[in-house]
Amino acid sequence: MNKFELMVLPYAHEALEPVISRETIAFHYEKHLATYVNNLNALLPRSGLEDLPLAEIVKQAKGGIANNAGQIMNHEMYFGQFRKPQENNMPDGELLEAIDETFGSFAKFKEEFVKAGTTLFGSGWVWLSAKEDGSLVITQETNAANPVQHGLRPLLTFDVWEHAYYLDYQNRRADHLAALWDIIDWDIVEKRATR
Ligand code: MN
Repeated sequence: MNKFELMVLPYAHEALEPVISRETIAFHYEKHLATYVNNLNALLPRSGLEDLPLAEIVKQAKGGIANNAGQIMNHEMYFGQFRKPQENNMPDGELLEAIDETFGSFAKFKEEFVKAGTTLFGSGWVWLSAKEDGSLVITQETNAANPVQHGLRPLLTFDVWEHAYYLDYQNRRADHLAALWDIIDWDIVEKRATR
């Protein structure tokens, strides 16, 4: 039977400052994500899903199991895509070409992505995903939803739950989302696109 573990962060809690503070990482990772892991481990036994990998649980589950498994998958992708802030941070190669082709330019893509994040009402996630044919799409997912639930391959995500930014940005969600571009590890995003 599966027992899920809290992921190991690939950087120190303060590594993303000033974009995301050490304090926000401490609450978001040690409290929020850890709770989803504990909840899922408590809910899985005798659910009929206890032997499935996480992505399959996310696709098949309903209710509390879907919510907690979805939040684990979402946060593992979210926390796994960051590195310390860099100026003029952007993708290159085939990923940049695909972004240019779909959205017109990297600047337009960022604008659309942040707009999708700021207009998502309530709690949720904005995603960049690849379709079957390799083209790209931005989607808004509410609460714990993940694009794998509608056949997409998720590449990049911004968490727009208030717990992701409220300590640092209070109600200024758009400012928080705009700042995240400095800490995206595009090598990781590219690997997700080409795996
Ligand atoms: Mn979160």
